[in-house]
Amino acid sequence: MPSPAKYIFVTGGVASSLGKGIISASLAKLLQARGYSVTIQKFDPYINVDPGTLNPYEHGECYVTEDGAETDLDLGHYERFLNIPTSQANNVTTGRIYKQVIEKERRGDYLGKTVQIIPHITDEIKRRMKLLGESGRYEFVLTEIGGTVGDIESLPYIEAIRQLKLELGSQDCLVIHLTLIPFLSAAGELKTKPTQHSVKMFLEQGVQPDILVCRTEHELGKDLKKKIGLFCNVSEDSVIESMDAASIYDVPLLMEKEALDIVVLKKLMMPNQTAPDLSTWKDFLYRLRHPKNQIEIGIIGKYIELKDAYKSIAEAFIHAGAANECQVQVRWIHSEEIDNDNVAAHFNGLAGVLVAPGFGERGIEGKITAIRFARENKVPFFGICLGMQCAVIEFARNVLGYSDAHSTEMSPETKYPVIHLQEEQKSVTHKGGTMRLGAYPCEVVPNSLARNIYGKSQISERHRHRYEFNNTYLRDFEAAGMVASGINPDNKLVEIVELPNHPWFLGVQFHPEYKSTVDNPHPLFLAFIKAGLKHIESVKSGFQVA
Ligand code: GLN
Repeated sequence: MPSPAKYIFVTGGVASSLGKGIISASLAKLLQARGYSVTIQKFDPYINVDPGTLNPYEHGECYVTEDGAETDLDLGHYERFLNIPTSQANNVTTGRIYKQVIEKERRGDYLGKTVQIIPHITDEIKRRMKLLGESGRYEFVLTEIGGTVGDIESLPYIEAIRQLKLELGSQDCLVIHLTLIPFLSAAGELKTKPTQHSVKMFLEQGVQPDILVCRTEHELGKDLKKKIGLFCNVSEDSVIESMDAASIYDVPLLMEKEALDIVVLKKLMMPNQTAPDLSTWKDFLYRLRHPKNQIEIGIIGKYIELKDAYKSIAEAFIHAGAANECQVQVRWIHSEEIDNDNVAAHFNGLAGVLVAPGFGERGIEGKITAIRFARENKVPFFGICLGMQCAVIEFARNVLGYSDAHSTEMSPETKYPVIHLQEEQKSVTHKGGTMRLGAYPCEVVPNSLARNIYGKSQISERHRHRYEFNNTYLRDFEAAGMVASGINPDNKLVEIVELPNHPWFLGVQFHPEYKSTVDNPHPLFLAFIKAGLKHIESVKSGFQVA
């Protein structure tokens, strides 16, 4: 019988967006670096069954796991920090909890009882909180609770934590509360009152946090830590300062300096003698800080006002940039703003462009115009999902001469549906969880750019889309010079397209960005940056983009 897991809950107070996900991932990283097996899960109090149906403007990117769960973007941070995959079980929402309880009620499982928030909803929350811990695979299960303490919708989660603390005991369960210590410039002072209030509210709900992590712009100092500890009923060494950091990847080291991991291990009665081995992490940070080159990459998308909408892509550039000792600056370009007259100006100085994933009509023509420019002027191009589909449409229109070629997503009546809906998708009426989701195998054809980059013929990548390359046209494309270099071996769907007569032009139907981590930067991003560096060299040495 494996020893039971230790449960660490991370809650937030005072304000949202304090970085619970990064604090959770950083602590998990420190524990992992000490040799412990760790996983992180996120419980989101909103009523959507999953974030798949949320507009990216609301919650940022929807992150997809290997097993095809559409999840909160914090799971992306967990994977990027820990380099281990998460799954459906790692993200739970109120919608999912209620769905399960209501289905049980309809089946008659509650035997005539009145179904209530306590105990039925809280029991279901607790069951799910313990699920990964009971698998025997982890010594530590970190659970991040979305939202802030005091929100109406968080109440059942806080109640579940209260009960679990009692059931498991203080050796096996602790609560870390992340708060803000604001700096009032007029008074020239850091203020602890909002944190005191937040802890008070937590206490009213029956939970005494064990550790406080305090976000601050200025050092807290010993006295302030003492004061916070006194008013919030925690020992001084359990008040952890979390200073604003230049990069999220600095946070594990900041937390190590503050001994967060040691405090946690002591409270949970776990050995803490050996120091965490963070050599690979530090090596990554060193490269990040000491780039030998710098390039600018254009990301073309329609949600660029909210950078979180493309979180995994932005992070993948950071990983691959550091590995290449190259600082990658991103120029965010709104696809709706690109037209034939200004496209050259948008490309000025860019080492390459990435056309982002997306849904719907808005901004499509701008993406297609940009892709044409990249194709004709030999600028490195990387298309992801919708970006790949747009590359196919552009090629059909401007090389094959299929003037109104389109995806049936935007133009159901097009004469040339080069991107279309798969048969099994045609009968789908529900939006939630009905796309082609999660990891699928792909065979990479020999003598292609993709094969050269991956260095192997069998790969697996994650998907999130409904529409596909229409194989009726495959021969026409290949005859005109666009090659399908990645094929799903089971259903022959085209997963990668490329142009052999272009220095670097690659479109992928899948989302490579989901698999990029600090320890394993994604090969496609690594190669794209290399191509960008080469492009800039060639521009400098006299070759001018038209
Ligand atoms: N809208 C396209 C589809 O559903 C692309 C999706 C995406 O870019 N993730 O197929």
